[in-house]
Amino acid sequence: MTDDEPITLGASHRGNGGLTHLACGTGRPLGARLFKSRFKGYMVCHCLLFAGDGRLVLVDAGLSREELRAPRKLGWFATALGLQSEPQLAAYEQIGALDFNPSAVTDVVLTHLDLDHAGGLRDFPDARVHVSEAELDAARRRRTMGERMRYRASQWEPARWVVHAVSDSTDVSSPVELLRVGNWTLSYVSLPGHTRGHCGVLATSSDANVLHCGDAYYDRSELADAGSFLFRCFKRGVDTSLAQAESSRRRLRVLQAERADLQLFCSHDPDEFAEAVGHSLGADGADGADGADGADGADCSDGARDAAI
Ligand SMILES: [Zn+2]
Repeated sequence: MTDDEPITLGASHRGNGGLTHLACGTGRPLGARLFKSRFKGYMVCHCLLFAGDGRLVLVDAGLSREELRAPRKLGWFATALGLQSEPQLAAYEQIGALDFNPSAVTDVVLTHLDLDHAGGLRDFPDARVHVSEAELDAARRRRTMGERMRYRASQWEPARWVVHAVSDSTDVSSPVELLRVGNWTLSYVSLPGHTRGHCGVLATSSDANVLHCGDAYYDRSELADAGSFLFRCFKRGVDTSLAQAESSRRRLRVLQAERADLQLFCSHDPDEFAEAVGHSLGADGADGADGADGADGADCSDGARDAAI
């Protein structure tokens, strides 16, 4: 991986099995320059799109069309993340480019409510928005300076909230089931620390199991070790509770070692994103949108198309 843009980011292929990986925003964060041994120079906002049963479900919403047109309007946050102006990467635009109808998005499942995960909600005002009870409470109360900086209610109020009680002990063996779409079952697992109610989203099917770890870590190297004192100081600045966040990362380390059947990835690691895209397209790079798929752009309710996705 180099500092140059590593992969084609705009969605051009639907993933097999009804799961497509989307990068809904990119940046060159300041933290990456400070910790070159830890981070690549480049980050993505890794979201998931599930298609089936004539509807679409998003996991995280990335940044909105408007935010990606003019990221500077996000102020210090855009500077810290080095956000690029790339309106074509908004989930709304990529869903259209895949010949789906954005109005078919019935649900958005959020790992947490940070700016770079919730901004895209603006483009799906009719969708139900799933969030953990602790996260919505933290975002509304904004009890600390950090929480006042990281949450912006203008991105998500009003929303059609579906609030879930997720206890700290909720792990992959006893997740909180949220919904089913096509062959997939989506559930929450608790990964607190980055924010108070931060959750991973577990997606299981007969063919694959993936865990979207949100911002439990930024780079997979964080699952190997906790890093230097300086790096831990940096994490203390971005994690609401460093102790909880380190505990969550320890749990993920164990999972990674014990569950070869489970693909883990976080929101911002570009290597993980590239691997996930490759994995979802299959070894030959074939996608689920060609041939008899008959992508007509009208909606995703056609039976033959549903079979293809
Ligand atoms: Zn993030």
